[in-house]
Amino acid sequence: MSIWQNKPDRDCTTQNFRIYRTPVGREVELVCLSPQFLGVKLHYWKGRSTPCIGHACEPCGNGHRPRWKGYVQAYHPATRTIVIFEFTERGYQPFQEALNQHGHLRGLRLKACRLNKKPNGPIQIAFAELREESPHLPKQGDLAAMLERIWEIRQQSYTFEPRNHENKPPESPRTEPQQTEPVVRLNGQPPRH
Ligand SMILES: [Zn+2]
Repeated sequence: MSIWQNKPDRDCTTQNFRIYRTPVGREVELVCLSPQFLGVKLHYWKGRSTPCIGHACEPCGNGHRPRWKGYVQAYHPATRTIVIFEFTERGYQPFQEALNQHGHLRGLRLKACRLNKKPNGPIQIAFAELREESPHLPKQGDLAAMLERIWEIRQQSYTFEPRNHENKPPESPRTEPQQTEPVVRLNGQPPRH
């Protein structure tokens, strides 16, 4: 058996990538690698981001409201890196419209910028009309698995629900009742009664 191995065991489908947030004061251009985005309700609690687990959620129990965030794996041509792009509720609409129009996101080019000088300022996202040819793009990975690793979900006593395609943010996040399900909802949707 040869010791030479011209391909690493790990490829971009199992690697971890950093979460990339839109910078202040300049526009960024990205190409989507994931076919679909994922949404989740997050708390920023005790110095780190942690998904809302609904029932028995410590931040919720302390009156802290989660915020919906969307994620998509993307290629950043300016740095030639692969990132996990994070967007806020305001970005949901353009993402969903692009998905409706094109069927999937992979290969779609987008531009994102902050509308003010605050690091948490609102993000404006605009998709280009044309799709990049998929064969020339880096492979996409398992976005949910990457995020679960980042948030160390595996080490905790709860699990994500099976993925689905309804990544809609709650209608009115500031007034909705607290969730009571004992699971993290990757789609971030309020429970149906
Ligand atoms: Zn919570």
